[in-house]
Amino acid sequence: MSASTEEVGIAIIGAGPAGCATAIALARHGIGDVMLFEAGTGDAPRIGETIPGAAMPLLSRLGLTDRFTARGHLPSLGSTAVWGKAEPHHNDGFANPFGGGWHLDRAGFDADLRAQALAAGVPLHAGRLRMMSAKGSGHRLRFEGANGPFEVTAGLVVDASGVRAAALRSLKVARNPVDAIAFHWSLLALAEPEALPARTFLEAVPEGWWYASRIPGGRVVVGFATDPDAGARFADAAAFRAALAETRLIGTQIARGRPLDAEAPPRIAIAPTAILSAVAGPGWLAVGDAAACLDPLLSQGLTRALEDGIAAADAIAGAQAGGAGAFNAYQDRVFARFTAGVRLRAAFYASEARWPDAPFWRRRQVQAAA
Ligand SMILES: Cc1cc2nc3c(=O)[nH]c(=O)nc-3n(C[C@H](O)[C@H](O)[C@H](O)COP(=O)(O)OP(=O)(O)OC[C@H]3O[C@@H](n4cnc5c(N)ncnc54)[C@H](O)[C@@H]3O)c2cc1C
Repeated sequence: MSASTEEVGIAIIGAGPAGCATAIALARHGIGDVMLFEAGTGDAPRIGETIPGAAMPLLSRLGLTDRFTARGHLPSLGSTAVWGKAEPHHNDGFANPFGGGWHLDRAGFDADLRAQALAAGVPLHAGRLRMMSAKGSGHRLRFEGANGPFEVTAGLVVDASGVRAAALRSLKVARNPVDAIAFHWSLLALAEPEALPARTFLEAVPEGWWYASRIPGGRVVVGFATDPDAGARFADAAAFRAALAETRLIGTQIARGRPLDAEAPPRIAIAPTAILSAVAGPGWLAVGDAAACLDPLLSQGLTRALEDGIAAADAIAGAQAGGAGAFNAYQDRVFARFTAGVRLRAAFYASEARWPDAPFWRRRQVQAAA
């Protein structure tokens, strides 16, 4: 994109699942003059790889069923959890009307969404949004691109930039935090992947909870969720593996797949539970994590991102057709879903009462009671 100011009807900031879903859904409404702007290259490893069967109707609405099927995501057999009691309990996929869901090739999933948005006619520009300000009835956007800064003016901006809500932060829309966890995670290659069932494994321990999920490519994602102020938990890959070996369920399960040594220390992702004080306003909307994000314990983030993209496009189409309350209806929906998610999350944490005095659990029991 050139240094001169370009004009676009709708600028979508961020080409993750929420941004791409918005772009595709807008195209399916026949709404043109839309551009996606993306800061990343898409090759950094991403966490967030389990989606429920209930996501399938959303993928179908976005015309993604064929790409999804061709990608070879792993069908999930369900989940096994040590939570609330020492004995594991099982939740099998066949008992769910939509099936057990999938363990994704997350990079492939994101790439397919981008390819579908491009195929729908929405161009993707490389650039990191640095600043957004009101300009007339629209907005001026300043980006940093590979060849330097550039500017765009847009009639409508959709913030799909993830937890940092890059666009709306510029507009000083407040974010209401409920909680945050630090997720220490690693990708381990398995010598015998088929020996590890394609289930989600969850295990509560006094300092937090462990999670594991086999993914395509003969690997397993394993992570430990704890308080962000619990300090640097794992100095290196060996310390992480040693802690994993002390678990009751997860370590034993992963050992079945004969994990190869990870060379890198675990990565850390901070996962907030938070919502913006407004997710729609004059000339803007927020979708996906930019609007609201919930504890990864619920494994709902990708489904919410797809839902928001579709609902935001419906709201934009409704507003263009003269529906005065379309943006408010979108906001009401996002707020109601967040409230339901916070309640569900509180119920999950309340159902683990074995360590009432451990700081991690005490904090979340207090939130559940509030
Ligand atoms: C530890 C952890 C585990 C998780 N596990 C799961 C799970 O199992 N299942 C599940 O469904 N969800 C899970 N999630 C949540 C899920 O990953 C997110 O909800 C989902 O990625 C949200 O999609 P999004 O498009 O809103 O945001 P993102 O996927 O974050 O995409 C935002 C995009 O915006 C781009 N961007 C950022 N800033 C700018 C800028 N200034 N300018 C331009 N572009 C920008 C980014 O590069 C990115 O491509 C997990 C999250 C965490 C942290």
